[in-house]
Amino acid sequence: MADFVSDLVKKVKPSATIAVSMKAAELRRAGKDVIGLGAGEPDFDTPDHIKQAAIEAINNGQTKYTAVDGTPELKQAIIGKFKRENGLEFAVNQILVSCGAKHSISNLLSAVLNPGDEVIIPAPYWVSYPDMTLLAGGVSVIVPTKQEQNFKISPQQLEKAITDKTRLIILNTPSNPTGKAYRKEELQALGEVLLKYPQVMITTDDIYEHIYWGDEEITNLGVLFPEMMDRMVFINGVSKAYAMTGWRIGYAAGPVDVITAMRKIQSQSTSNPCSISQAASVAALNGDQNCLEPMKKAFKERHDWLIAALNEIPGFSCIEGEGAFYAFPNVEEAMSKIDGINNDVEFSTWLLENAEVAVVPGTPFGAPGHVRLSFATSMENLKKAVDRIKKVLS
Ligand code: PMP
Ligand code: GLU
Repeated sequence: MADFVSDLVKKVKPSATIAVSMKAAELRRAGKDVIGLGAGEPDFDTPDHIKQAAIEAINNGQTKYTAVDGTPELKQAIIGKFKRENGLEFAVNQILVSCGAKHSISNLLSAVLNPGDEVIIPAPYWVSYPDMTLLAGGVSVIVPTKQEQNFKISPQQLEKAITDKTRLIILNTPSNPTGKAYRKEELQALGEVLLKYPQVMITTDDIYEHIYWGDEEITNLGVLFPEMMDRMVFINGVSKAYAMTGWRIGYAAGPVDVITAMRKIQSQSTSNPCSISQAASVAALNGDQNCLEPMKKAFKERHDWLIAALNEIPGFSCIEGEGAFYAFPNVEEAMSKIDGINNDVEFSTWLLENAEVAVVPGTPFGAPGHVRLSFATSMENLKKAVDRIKKVLS
């Protein structure tokens, strides 16, 4: 049979986070008692007032196509959110609503990359950035960071990575998978470098901004460097903050020409995101924000417990995060003691088979020697998982 798959797609890896979640679900369906710490999605239900808005939208007949880039109501809600929470001002033509933040990022990369353009991606990174870059014809320039530097790129590393071909840098704070968030002074220092390179666009993926417990108020490069707003794209969405992963609403805010280009791509690919989900997202962004606090509190409690528990496992070393819902321990020493296990990918498979705990290996995040555990699950599950890991390693 002829080979119909394109050369480009052959180079792309499937998402490792999704692969692990699917594998865990499959094993559970087959009757195995697998504890899934792979999935990066809140275990809470979408708050009631948001669901109610969706039900009303269905009953009111909001079941047709909407504007490709989102309903006027949702775009206004997003403008309001940026002003209220981030101190950023946008006009309506600077907003694009997509089918998830993932879709917004993918549109952005397709909109700005010419073949061979470089995208600076600090590692550890969210698994999808490099492959999305590849799909859009770009070249990833991975800048590794170490646990000792809190997994944050330094201004010197950034400057060294910039070349004549650099088109974009992707920052993600708080980070998936490390949970680390850039402090104001760190953003300030990175911004000073970026100021010198006007050909470089900056995108910041702030999808975890509401799951943050750092000791200073979270800030952003747009507030610190208003003079760079004409080359910054802010990515966000309702998935993580409002426990709405399945509704598929994300958004981007940025310069008119870039947003217009992204809208054009969307008009020739997906059209508008789901009309009902958009109505629900208006309720999420404009409604009572008290629903955020209990979820954040639960994540912080689990974080505190899990990081301490992981550090008690021989051969595990894990630093605290300031947000998101992931622990990202270094497990090199633990791995080295197991016969036949040579890397984090094999170690993750070994844990799944022996402890029936699903974690994501660090390699697809650009950080071999680590594994990612999601604590978007109950304390009971976390305790059981840690017990099992301890047992198989002892
Ligand atoms: N960015 C990061 C860092 C993420 O972890 C996720 C989670 N999938 C996304 C973007 C995309 O989120 P969504 O498409 O569900 O809005
Ligand atoms: N962002 C989540 C994760 O990292 C969801 C899955 C995905 O889209 O990657 O697990």
